[in-house]
Amino acid sequence: DGQYPHVFVTLGASGDLARKKIYPTLWWLYRDNLLPSNTHFFGYARSKTTINDIKTKCEPYMKVKPGEEERYAEFWKLNHYVSGNYNVRTDFEKLNQELSQFEKGAVANRLFYLALPPSVFEEVTILIRNSCMGEKGWNRIIIEKPFGRDLASSQRLSDHLASLFTESQIYRIDHYLGKEMVQNLMTLRFGNRIFGPTWNRDNIASIQISFKEPFGTQGRGGYFDEFGIIRDIMQNHLLQILTLVAMEKPASCLPDDIRNEKVKVLKSIKSLELHDVVLGQYVADPEGEGEAKLGYLDDPTVPKGSLTPTYAAAVLRINNERWDGVPFILKCGKALNERKAEVRIQFEDVPGDIFDGKPKRNELVIRVQPGEALYVKLMVKTPGMAFDMEETELDLTYGHRYAEQSNCKEDHMGKCYTVKLPDAYERLILDVFCGSQMHFVRSDELHEAWRIFTPLLHEIESGGVKPIPYVFGSRGPKEADELLMKNNFTYTGSYKWYKRE
Ligand code: NAP
Ligand code: NAP
Repeated sequence: DGQYPHVFVTLGASGDLARKKIYPTLWWLYRDNLLPSNTHFFGYARSKTTINDIKTKCEPYMKVKPGEEERYAEFWKLNHYVSGNYNVRTDFEKLNQELSQFEKGAVANRLFYLALPPSVFEEVTILIRNSCMGEKGWNRIIIEKPFGRDLASSQRLSDHLASLFTESQIYRIDHYLGKEMVQNLMTLRFGNRIFGPTWNRDNIASIQISFKEPFGTQGRGGYFDEFGIIRDIMQNHLLQILTLVAMEKPASCLPDDIRNEKVKVLKSIKSLELHDVVLGQYVADPEGEGEAKLGYLDDPTVPKGSLTPTYAAAVLRINNERWDGVPFILKCGKALNERKAEVRIQFEDVPGDIFDGKPKRNELVIRVQPGEALYVKLMVKTPGMAFDMEETELDLTYGHRYAEQSNCKEDHMGKCYTVKLPDAYERLILDVFCGSQMHFVRSDELHEAWRIFTPLLHEIESGGVKPIPYVFGSRGPKEADELLMKNNFTYTGSYKWYKRE
């Protein structure tokens, strides 16, 4: 489609997501010549603003480097702004006319990014469908979570969208699917011989998928409180990773073959019950610094006495031949001791041990962020004269293997192997231009994801479940570690990591 005109419309262009993510991403894609050459960008919102004003608001997020100023100015010349309401047909007709001006020739394609609060979602999509669909090419709609707040509301939204657009026109963003190490899971599993044969209940003891954040609500807990950590992180990002870790090999790399396998995994998981989870809410650390002195309930925007969890650990079970009996533990929380997102696959103990119980379990860790890495914890003979053994690792740290330009060395071909890992949004928005839905959530996946979590969420919201307090900056409630121990995760504390500079 490279030679045809494209228009990219951001609805809600005056907002937070547009400023922090969408405009910067479009600029980086434009800067790197990754977009079709004849692409124009439109912002739409009610505010009576101008492109110059939007440009100023975006400035802190655009990361323009020296030497890029000219290209940057060119990018903004391709940007336009139309002001209008979200429920007035003539305003969308006006937008349509403005878009058409840039669609000379027989073929032209349109992308619409809904960067809007869910309250205006329905009316906007109806008006796009009725007044703004391009007739000379494809139309694609990009939407962001929240996709409803439970099974019923999500189904209503899906039905609404299905009445206006085909599934192939809808791109539901889960930005974790745009992350390097998440996209790597398929290659790791199906592009290697060594992992496949052990990737099952005979060899794997438990699997943890965790997300940890070292800060709290930073005074903006009002918004978070409506959702809680399960809707914010677990039901979408962590569950998506789980499906990629657990799915069978797809028939091909085509998006629907992959998504079919992901749905199959979800269908094999029963809805969660209260005894499968540990819920927590952070409290102040009186000795902490800055935000750590405040607990969740000290945030003035959080309703008094809120029972919303800021931490959750849940054990999911996949009832199929490969995974029967293997706990999949999802863990996520705010105000913890560190920032990290990772997948930790812990293998069973060695059967028929001849080393007096010394071998520790192998672990394969896929670190999604920060500092992308893959490492396998394994036993070696203690180097030297001794005939003891110790834990060490096979380590692939991306920052070393795929070094930045500044410290890269020449390889044996005399070429420099460097790589810049793009932001998740860059990959995903480019995928929408290319028409690849591989890294987007299909409506049946979404349905199954909500089915798994809805009874639990309703029970929590009925008010009877009190989250366990944990101190800001800790690893979360100790009950979560007990849950892990009961679910075939062993922590010895004996592993030592020596960081290479
Ligand atoms: P936002 O800044 O609150 O809203 C975007 C724009 O929508 C506003 O500039 C405003 O534009 C319009 N708007 C706001 N409230 C409205 C209302 N009650 N009725 C009608 N119009 C209203 O939202 P956002 O943070 O950009 O997020 C957009 C969407 O992305 C949301 O669905 C959000 O959940 C999702 N999301 C956001 C982020 C993020 O980092 N911000 C991350 C993940 C998902 P005008 O007043 O000019 O019309
Ligand atoms: P570890 O020290 O054996 O810990 C494994 C995990 O157990 C921890 O990540 C922690 O995760 C959990 N844990 C900690 N205390 C616990 C307790 N008392 N009870 C139950 N669980 C507990 O191994 P590791 O974390 O894999 O590695 C140690 C350090 O080396 C990490 O900082 C890691 O990033 C670093 N390392 C880096 C690389 C690399 O960059 N390439 C390679 C190897 C190791 P939760 O807090 O999430 O529960």
